[in-house]
Amino acid sequence: MISDTIAAISTPLGEGGIAMIRISGPEAVSITDTIFFAKKKCSEMQTHTVQYGFIKEPDSGLKVDEVLLTVMLAPKSFTKENVVEISCHGGLISVKKILELLLRYGARLAEPGEFTKRAFLNGRIDLTQAEAVIDLIRSKSDRAYSVAMKQVEGSLSEKIISLRNILIELMAHIEVNIDYPEHDVEDLTYAYIADKCKQSIQLIDDLLKNANQGKILREGIVTAIVGRPNVGKSSLLNLLARENKAIVTDIPGTTRDVIEEFVTVGGVPLKLLDTAGLRETSDIVEKIGVERSRKSLLEAELVLFVLNQNEPLHLDEFNLFKEVENKQVIVILNKTDLPAQIEVEQITKQFSEEQVVKMSIKNDKGQLELEKVIANMFFEGKIESTDSSYVSNVRHIHLLNKAKRSLEEALNGTHHVPIDMLQIDIRNAWEDLGEVIGDSVSESLIDQIFSQFCLGK
Ligand code: GDP
Ligand code: ZN
Repeated sequence: MISDTIAAISTPLGEGGIAMIRISGPEAVSITDTIFFAKKKCSEMQTHTVQYGFIKEPDSGLKVDEVLLTVMLAPKSFTKENVVEISCHGGLISVKKILELLLRYGARLAEPGEFTKRAFLNGRIDLTQAEAVIDLIRSKSDRAYSVAMKQVEGSLSEKIISLRNILIELMAHIEVNIDYPEHDVEDLTYAYIADKCKQSIQLIDDLLKNANQGKILREGIVTAIVGRPNVGKSSLLNLLARENKAIVTDIPGTTRDVIEEFVTVGGVPLKLLDTAGLRETSDIVEKIGVERSRKSLLEAELVLFVLNQNEPLHLDEFNLFKEVENKQVIVILNKTDLPAQIEVEQITKQFSEEQVVKMSIKNDKGQLELEKVIANMFFEGKIESTDSSYVSNVRHIHLLNKAKRSLEEALNGTHHVPIDMLQIDIRNAWEDLGEVIGDSVSESLIDQIFSQFCLGK
């Protein structure tokens, strides 16, 4: 039984100015009572209600922040324990101060993922749901969020459970046959096993088919930023990422390797690849970079093609136009702060007007328009499509493939391998599927999974 009370900063998705602190455990309410001041004490509040009040330093009476307090009493809370959530809006300093007070008055700082781990250990959620929470925390866009949310609601678990029911029934059937072996019954049983195995393999295939889409959503649409040296590719990456991870310089060809950055642009999750300037070169190091960019261009689901509109179109760029012919492309005419040397008409020969965005990246100009174009392409389905059920996790994919292999083994064995041998394969598949939903996972795997969480969930 879990006996201590944990607390952590747990800023909700969507960021914004409000921060949240979550407290869970038997003392959640009494600890809150020591620092919360309002009409009613926390302990007088009804479960699942919200109250406006103040957090104060109990000794000095000093006001820390005005807050909204939410109480959810056991067992009807996320962790099945008493949970208090404090939403404050005073920025990082007051959030930290509140957390500090809670720790001073008896709470313990939560380990990463500990809230979700408690929810799992208390039987509130199964493992796929817990893992979906990891995805949810990591998901960097609204879209990925809503897909992850569906998994929290258990759509994958449901499918796995019904799949396992088929296999249980099959195992029971075989068991009966082993106990009463008669020749004609045996033949019927082989046919029955083959049928059920095929059915189960089909169901697993359906889940696996959607695995890549889950991956797209979590990791973002693979987006290559291409263009000649010095047109502003790294500057664009930096503008979009808002942190100076890529090196920006005046010397052409300094982006030697591919730099990756995960961003959300117009609500769309992108995995940005800044490539070395694509051009023929004799410099060996740069050549490696160019090779890599060609590769990332192949992989790309979206291409941001940057041009310096202050220089006439270059032969390299005409060649590049051909290379991206079959891709979803946005052409960025950069450096609009400088005089134009490229006519839009030169671009719209190959690309539609909606695909062309004018920017002055250095001066933060045109970003909104770029966001709009990306969002439109996304919502028109040009650069992504989703399905409601999917597998979004490497561990799930591995286990599903393993289960599938066992079932194929069983299927291949029907009519010539003894039935009790087939039984072993089917049981293996059943167990692997059980692992997806956490039915038979080991202690160490649980720790491993939950250590991936961010603090506060
Ligand atoms: P990359 O080689 O394509 O990655 O280009 P960089 O991002 O490294 O930029 C090359 C140079 O162009 C740098 O000196 C940038 O400051 C400059 N630059 C980027 N965007 C603009 C812009 O909008 N206007 C002007 N005038 N210069 C820019
Ligand atoms: Zn660069």
